[in-house]
Amino acid sequence: MDKVVVIMGASSGIGAATAKLLASKGAKVTIAARRMNRLEEIKKDNPDSDILAVEADVTKEKEVQNVIDKTIEKFGRVDVLFNNAGIMPVNNLDQIARDEWTNMLDINIKGVLNGIAAALPIMKKQKSGHVITTSSVLGYEVLPGYAAYSGTKYAVRAIMEGLRQEEHKNNIKTTIIAPGSVKTELYKSVNNSEVHAGLEKVMEASGTQMEALQPEEIAQAVAFVIDTPSNMAVNEMVIRPTGQE
Ligand code: NDP
Repeated sequence: MDKVVVIMGASSGIGAATAKLLASKGAKVTIAARRMNRLEEIKKDNPDSDILAVEADVTKEKEVQNVIDKTIEKFGRVDVLFNNAGIMPVNNLDQIARDEWTNMLDINIKGVLNGIAAALPIMKKQKSGHVITTSSVLGYEVLPGYAAYSGTKYAVRAIMEGLRQEEHKNNIKTTIIAPGSVKTELYKSVNNSEVHAGLEKVMEASGTQMEALQPEEIAQAVAFVIDTPSNMAVNEMVIRPTGQE
Protein backbone atom coordinates (compact mmCIF):
# COMPACT_ATOMS: atom_id res chain seq x y z
CA MET A 1 0.00 0.00 0.00
CA ASP A 2 1.67 3.19 -1.19
CA LYS A 3 0.20 5.63 1.34
CA VAL A 4 1.42 7.84 4.15
CA VAL A 5 -0.92 7.36 7.10
CA VAL A 6 -0.97 9.30 10.37
CA ILE A 7 -2.69 7.55 13.27
CA MET A 8 -3.61 9.57 16.36
CA GLY A 9 -4.22 7.27 19.34
CA ALA A 10 -1.98 4.50 18.03
CA SER A 11 -0.44 3.21 21.27
CA SER A 12 -3.03 0.48 21.93
CA GLY A 13 -6.25 -1.15 20.73
CA ILE A 14 -7.68 -0.20 17.35
CA GLY A 15 -4.98 2.39 16.55
CA ALA A 16 -2.08 0.04 17.31
CA ALA A 17 -3.65 -2.84 15.38
CA THR A 18 -4.26 -0.56 12.39
CA ALA A 19 -0.69 0.74 12.47
CA LYS A 20 0.72 -2.80 12.43
CA LEU A 21 -1.59 -3.97 9.63
CA LEU A 22 -1.00 -0.95 7.37
CA ALA A 23 2.75 -1.04 7.95
CA SER A 24 2.78 -4.75 7.07
CA LYS A 25 1.05 -3.83 3.80
CA GLY A 26 3.83 -1.38 2.96
CA ALA A 27 2.28 1.90 4.10
CA LYS A 28 4.45 4.55 5.73
CA VAL A 29 2.86 5.08 9.11
CA THR A 30 3.22 7.82 11.73
CA ILE A 31 1.99 6.63 15.11
CA ALA A 32 1.10 9.20 17.76
CA ALA A 33 -0.15 9.07 21.34
CA ARG A 34 0.93 10.09 24.85
CA ARG A 35 2.52 6.75 25.85
CA MET A 36 5.79 6.92 23.95
CA ASN A 37 6.98 3.59 25.45
CA ARG A 38 4.06 1.81 23.74
CA LEU A 39 4.79 3.53 20.43
CA GLU A 40 8.45 2.52 20.65
CA GLU A 41 7.40 -1.09 21.32
CA ILE A 42 5.29 -1.11 18.14
CA LYS A 43 8.28 0.20 16.19
CA LYS A 44 10.60 -2.36 17.75
CA ASP A 45 8.21 -5.26 17.06
CA ASN A 46 7.93 -4.26 13.39
CA PRO A 47 11.58 -3.66 12.42
CA ASP A 48 11.02 -4.05 8.67
CA SER A 49 8.28 -1.43 8.58
CA ASP A 50 8.43 2.27 7.85
CA ILE A 51 7.08 3.61 11.14
CA LEU A 52 7.64 7.03 12.71
CA ALA A 53 6.67 7.42 16.37
CA VAL A 54 5.79 10.89 17.69
CA GLU A 55 4.64 11.68 21.20
CA ALA A 56 1.49 13.82 21.21
CA ASP A 57 -1.49 14.69 23.30
CA VAL A 58 -4.36 15.36 20.88
CA THR A 59 -5.77 18.08 23.12
CA LYS A 60 -2.61 20.13 22.47
CA GLU A 61 -2.81 21.90 19.15
CA LYS A 62 0.98 22.37 18.84
CA GLU A 63 1.72 18.71 19.55
CA VAL A 64 -0.76 17.60 16.89
CA GLN A 65 0.76 20.07 14.43
CA ASN A 66 4.18 18.63 15.28
CA VAL A 67 2.97 15.12 14.33
CA ILE A 68 1.96 16.38 10.90
CA ASP A 69 5.16 18.45 10.49
CA LYS A 70 7.36 15.47 11.41
CA THR A 71 5.43 13.28 8.96
CA ILE A 72 6.01 15.76 6.14
CA GLU A 73 9.69 15.98 7.08
CA LYS A 74 10.11 12.19 6.95
CA PHE A 75 7.61 10.99 4.36
CA GLY A 76 6.90 14.14 2.29
CA ARG A 77 3.09 13.99 2.37
CA VAL A 78 0.01 12.97 4.35
CA ASP A 79 -2.43 10.77 2.47
CA VAL A 80 -4.53 9.66 5.42
CA LEU A 81 -5.23 11.07 8.87
CA PHE A 82 -6.85 8.55 11.21
CA ASN A 83 -8.37 10.43 14.18
CA ASN A 84 -8.73 7.53 16.56
CA ALA A 85 -7.75 8.81 20.03
CA GLY A 86 -10.58 8.52 22.53
CA ILE A 87 -11.54 7.81 26.12
CA MET A 88 -14.75 6.50 27.69
CA PRO A 89 -14.93 7.29 31.42
CA VAL A 90 -18.72 6.84 31.56
CA ASN A 91 -21.02 7.84 34.40
CA ASN A 92 -24.67 8.74 34.86
CA LEU A 93 -25.24 12.47 34.43
CA ASP A 94 -26.32 12.86 38.08
CA GLN A 95 -22.71 12.09 39.09
CA ILE A 96 -21.84 15.58 37.75
CA ALA A 97 -18.43 14.30 36.66
CA ARG A 98 -17.24 17.65 35.33
CA ASP A 99 -13.57 16.67 35.02
CA GLU A 100 -14.50 13.56 33.03
CA TRP A 101 -16.77 15.59 30.77
CA THR A 102 -14.05 18.15 30.12
CA ASN A 103 -11.47 15.48 29.41
CA MET A 104 -13.79 13.61 27.08
CA LEU A 105 -14.82 16.72 25.15
CA ASP A 106 -11.17 17.75 24.83
CA ILE A 107 -9.90 14.36 23.63
CA ASN A 108 -12.86 12.93 21.71
CA ILE A 109 -13.99 16.15 19.98
CA LYS A 110 -11.30 18.83 20.18
CA GLY A 111 -8.66 16.20 19.45
CA VAL A 112 -10.42 15.42 16.15
CA LEU A 113 -10.64 19.13 15.26
CA ASN A 114 -6.94 19.57 16.10
CA GLY A 115 -6.12 16.71 13.73
CA ILE A 116 -8.22 18.21 10.94
CA ALA A 117 -6.71 21.66 11.53
CA ALA A 118 -3.19 20.31 11.15
CA ALA A 119 -3.76 17.96 8.19
CA LEU A 120 -6.33 19.78 6.06
CA PRO A 121 -4.07 22.55 4.71
CA ILE A 122 -1.59 19.89 3.55
CA MET A 123 -4.30 17.77 1.95
CA LYS A 124 -5.74 20.82 0.17
CA LYS A 125 -2.27 21.67 -1.15
CA GLN A 126 -1.80 18.06 -2.30
CA LYS A 127 -5.30 18.15 -3.83
CA SER A 128 -5.93 14.78 -2.23
CA GLY A 129 -6.36 13.27 1.19
CA HIS A 130 -8.49 11.09 3.41
CA VAL A 131 -9.66 11.82 6.95
CA ILE A 132 -10.94 8.87 8.96
CA THR A 133 -12.43 9.33 12.42
CA THR A 134 -13.51 6.73 14.95
CA SER A 135 -17.04 7.35 16.16
CA SER A 136 -19.01 4.45 17.68
CA VAL A 137 -22.38 2.73 17.56
CA LEU A 138 -22.90 5.11 20.49
CA GLY A 139 -22.69 7.87 17.89
CA TYR A 140 -26.07 6.60 16.63
CA GLU A 141 -27.81 5.55 19.85
CA VAL A 142 -27.64 6.40 23.56
CA LEU A 143 -27.46 4.07 26.54
CA PRO A 144 -27.98 5.07 30.19
CA GLY A 145 -24.63 6.10 31.65
CA TYR A 146 -23.12 6.81 28.25
CA ALA A 147 -24.81 10.16 27.52
CA ALA A 148 -21.67 12.33 27.57
CA TYR A 149 -19.56 9.77 25.67
CA SER A 150 -22.36 9.31 23.13
CA GLY A 151 -22.54 13.10 22.79
CA THR A 152 -18.88 13.20 21.76
CA LYS A 153 -19.39 10.40 19.23
CA TYR A 154 -22.49 12.08 17.71
CA ALA A 155 -20.46 15.27 17.53
CA VAL A 156 -17.61 13.76 15.54
CA ARG A 157 -20.11 12.34 13.05
CA ALA A 158 -21.48 15.85 12.55
CA ILE A 159 -17.98 17.28 12.15
CA MET A 160 -17.04 14.61 9.61
CA GLU A 161 -20.24 15.13 7.60
CA GLY A 162 -19.46 18.87 7.53
CA LEU A 163 -15.94 18.10 6.38
CA ARG A 164 -17.32 15.86 3.63
CA GLN A 165 -19.69 18.57 2.39
CA GLU A 166 -16.97 21.22 2.39
CA GLU A 167 -14.06 19.23 0.98
CA HIS A 168 -15.37 16.47 -1.33
CA LYS A 169 -14.86 18.84 -4.25
CA ASN A 170 -11.18 19.12 -3.28
CA ASN A 171 -10.67 15.38 -3.65
CA ILE A 172 -10.64 14.79 0.11
CA LYS A 173 -12.35 11.63 1.29
CA THR A 174 -13.99 11.28 4.69
CA THR A 175 -14.84 8.12 6.60
CA ILE A 176 -16.51 7.54 9.93
CA ILE A 177 -15.65 4.19 11.48
CA ALA A 178 -18.30 3.27 14.03
CA PRO A 179 -17.45 0.11 15.97
CA GLY A 180 -19.64 -1.79 18.38
CA SER A 181 -17.90 -3.59 21.18
CA VAL A 182 -14.17 -4.17 20.61
CA LYS A 183 -11.84 -5.83 23.09
CA THR A 184 -9.38 -3.07 24.02
CA GLU A 185 -8.06 -1.11 26.97
CA LEU A 186 -10.90 1.40 26.54
CA TYR A 187 -13.04 -0.50 29.03
CA LYS A 188 -10.44 0.10 31.76
CA SER A 189 -11.61 3.71 31.83
CA VAL A 190 -15.20 2.62 32.63
CA ASN A 191 -14.99 3.07 36.37
CA ASN A 192 -18.68 2.90 37.23
CA SER A 193 -19.90 -0.62 38.01
CA GLU A 194 -23.58 0.47 37.97
CA VAL A 195 -23.22 1.59 34.37
CA HIS A 196 -21.59 -1.72 33.50
CA ALA A 197 -24.40 -3.67 35.16
CA GLY A 198 -26.94 -1.60 33.19
CA LEU A 199 -25.19 -2.45 29.94
CA GLU A 200 -25.21 -6.14 30.80
CA LYS A 201 -28.96 -5.99 31.51
CA VAL A 202 -29.56 -4.47 28.08
CA MET A 203 -27.58 -7.34 26.54
CA GLU A 204 -29.50 -9.96 28.52
CA ALA A 205 -32.86 -8.42 27.64
CA SER A 206 -31.99 -8.54 23.97
CA GLY A 207 -31.04 -12.20 24.35
CA THR A 208 -27.67 -11.70 22.72
CA GLN A 209 -24.53 -13.61 23.56
CA MET A 210 -22.15 -10.97 22.49
CA GLU A 211 -18.54 -11.66 21.76
CA ALA A 212 -16.57 -8.46 21.34
CA LEU A 213 -14.59 -7.90 18.14
CA GLN A 214 -10.81 -7.84 18.15
CA PRO A 215 -9.02 -4.57 17.28
CA GLU A 216 -7.34 -6.38 14.37
CA GLU A 217 -10.79 -6.85 12.81
CA ILE A 218 -11.50 -3.11 12.90
CA ALA A 219 -8.01 -2.57 11.45
CA GLN A 220 -9.03 -4.64 8.42
CA ALA A 221 -12.01 -2.34 7.87
CA VAL A 222 -9.75 0.72 8.06
CA ALA A 223 -7.33 -0.85 5.57
CA PHE A 224 -10.27 -1.54 3.24
CA VAL A 225 -11.55 2.06 3.25
CA ILE A 226 -8.03 3.41 2.68
CA ASP A 227 -7.48 1.09 -0.27
CA THR A 228 -10.61 2.01 -2.22
CA PRO A 229 -10.18 3.46 -5.73
CA SER A 230 -9.71 7.24 -5.88
CA ASN A 231 -13.28 7.83 -7.15
CA MET A 232 -14.85 5.88 -4.27
CA ALA A 233 -15.28 7.15 -0.70
CA VAL A 234 -16.75 4.96 2.03
CA ASN A 235 -18.25 7.72 4.19
CA GLU A 236 -19.54 5.62 7.07
CA MET A 237 -18.90 2.11 8.28
CA VAL A 238 -20.75 0.63 11.27
CA ILE A 239 -19.15 -2.59 12.51
CA ARG A 240 -20.85 -4.59 15.25
CA PRO A 241 -20.07 -8.03 16.61
CA THR A 242 -22.73 -10.18 14.95
CA GLY A 243 -24.35 -10.87 18.33
CA GLN A 244 -24.62 -7.22 19.39
CA GLU A 245 -28.10 -5.72 19.23
P1 NDP B 1 -7.66 2.09 23.69
O1 NDP B 1 -7.84 2.63 25.06
O2 NDP B 1 -6.89 0.84 23.52
O3 NDP B 1 -7.02 3.20 22.74
C1 NDP B 1 -7.23 4.57 22.90
C2 NDP B 1 -6.10 5.31 22.22
O4 NDP B 1 -6.36 6.72 22.35
C3 NDP B 1 -4.75 5.02 22.87
O5 NDP B 1 -3.77 4.90 21.88
C4 NDP B 1 -4.51 6.29 23.69
O6 NDP B 1 -3.12 6.56 23.77
C5 NDP B 1 -5.18 7.34 22.81
N1 NDP B 1 -5.45 8.56 23.55
C6 NDP B 1 -6.28 8.76 24.60
N2 NDP B 1 -6.18 10.03 25.02
C7 NDP B 1 -5.28 10.64 24.22
C8 NDP B 1 -4.73 11.95 24.17
N3 NDP B 1 -5.09 12.92 25.03
N4 NDP B 1 -3.80 12.23 23.21
C9 NDP B 1 -3.39 11.26 22.35
N5 NDP B 1 -3.88 10.01 22.35
C10 NDP B 1 -4.80 9.71 23.28
O7 NDP B 1 -9.13 1.92 23.13
P2 NDP B 1 -9.75 1.66 21.66
O8 NDP B 1 -8.74 1.16 20.74
O9 NDP B 1 -10.96 0.88 21.89
O10 NDP B 1 -10.19 3.13 21.27
C11 NDP B 1 -9.92 3.73 20.02
C12 NDP B 1 -11.13 4.52 19.58
O11 NDP B 1 -12.21 3.63 19.33
C13 NDP B 1 -11.66 5.53 20.60
O12 NDP B 1 -11.98 6.72 19.93
C14 NDP B 1 -12.92 4.88 21.12
O13 NDP B 1 -13.86 5.80 21.61
C15 NDP B 1 -13.40 4.15 19.89
N6 NDP B 1 -14.34 3.05 20.08
C16 NDP B 1 -13.97 1.95 20.79
C17 NDP B 1 -14.88 0.91 20.98
C18 NDP B 1 -14.55 -0.29 21.79
O14 NDP B 1 -15.47 -1.09 22.07
N7 NDP B 1 -13.31 -0.51 22.19
C19 NDP B 1 -16.22 0.98 20.40
C20 NDP B 1 -16.48 2.17 19.64
C21 NDP B 1 -15.57 3.16 19.50
P3 NDP B 1 -2.37 7.19 25.04
O15 NDP B 1 -3.14 6.85 26.27
O16 NDP B 1 -1.01 6.55 24.96
O17 NDP B 1 -2.30 8.66 24.76
